[in-house]
Amino acid sequence: MSKTHYHSQRLSREKLAALLQNEDVAELSFSALVRLYREEPGLAGFRPDGGYQIDPRNGERIIFNAARARRPHDNRPVTESRVGLPERPCVVCQGQTTGIIDMAELSEGVTFINKNLYPLLFPAEEALPGRVQGLHLLQWTSSLHDRDWHNLPLVDCVVVMERLAALEKLLLTQDVEGFLPEATNPTGERAFVSIIKNYGRLVGGSLAHGHQQIALSNIIPRRFLDNWRFEQERGETFAAYMLRENPPELLVRDYGPAVLLVSYFMRRPYNMLLILKESGRRYLHELSAVEMEAVATGWRDAIHTIRELMPRMGRETAYNVVTHNGPGAGLYFEFLPYTQEIGGYEHLGLFSCQERPENVAAQLRETLGDRRELLRHRKKNFHRKDAKDAKKKKVTTQPSPGSGWA
Ligand SMILES: [Zn+2]
Repeated sequence: MSKTHYHSQRLSREKLAALLQNEDVAELSFSALVRLYREEPGLAGFRPDGGYQIDPRNGERIIFNAARARRPHDNRPVTESRVGLPERPCVVCQGQTTGIIDMAELSEGVTFINKNLYPLLFPAEEALPGRVQGLHLLQWTSSLHDRDWHNLPLVDCVVVMERLAALEKLLLTQDVEGFLPEATNPTGERAFVSIIKNYGRLVGGSLAHGHQQIALSNIIPRRFLDNWRFEQERGETFAAYMLRENPPELLVRDYGPAVLLVSYFMRRPYNMLLILKESGRRYLHELSAVEMEAVATGWRDAIHTIRELMPRMGRETAYNVVTHNGPGAGLYFEFLPYTQEIGGYEHLGLFSCQERPENVAAQLRETLGDRRELLRHRKKNFHRKDAKDAKKKKVTTQPSPGSGWA
């Protein structure tokens, strides 16, 4: 395996220690988290004003927040004049970030969670009817600048997913007193945890250092409403429906407890869904160990294929990942590479997709096959080179997928 250290930047142990406020989110109470959030020094200047509106046609929620326009961006593409110049410094690697509320060791470096300095939501001291209440947090996949889902060992991807689940649990199962339920929300749930990932400046990713965003809100995001309505109208979750109805040839990979697939209604090339087979699952923190590993593997594979295929299309790499948890969803994740622009017809709800789902599914399977071939090749060379060491360390192999595309 190549020993090239292409990651030139990282957040050092010293800087991590200076930022550490709490090591394990599972041992934090919700009220303590809210207190740490309110007391975070930099946050006050970027508070949202708490106002929002609902589009009466479809229930979309619009939060007004002028402060976010002042966010720094460090991932605009390198212009020709910058080629050959030193790498741009990363604010996160420099430690110019907020206090850490969760930190876990990875094979190299750590993964950690802190507060978003430019929050979409804020836990106002006085909860008023008709106002937005919430928290907005960030999970940095690795303290190493260039490490993210596609190039972390699977064991580390699992740790990152477990930490996300622990945070989700704290946000949902602790007493969210002071969070007024939204009057117009029919689901009966009083809090929603939205877990997303933005990568690339074209789709809202303002920082290059790999991260996930987690938002707790008292207002319901539109897609949560869609999932809830789906189950009300059809008597099954969207996940259960897709597992039954989606054509088998659109399967990308079967992990046993979860499947990665292209939907028959794919709007954009390489859009993928990762779906939990156990339809009783509604949240990340409800997953068993094998389900957690399946989900982490699915995230790693989907992001790997997006990063492989977008440059081949001549597109700048940019994608979003969204988590569908809560009522009506089952549990599923959408991977949305920005492979085509959104035009006027799309804003009317009429999408023209430049590729067919069956072709995309075949290409995705092939790309994942290439990756496994490469990993096998690396492993073989490693054994040949250092067979004695390998025996001593007892190298663990990754479990093969449950069925399908091994
Ligand atoms: Zn960085």
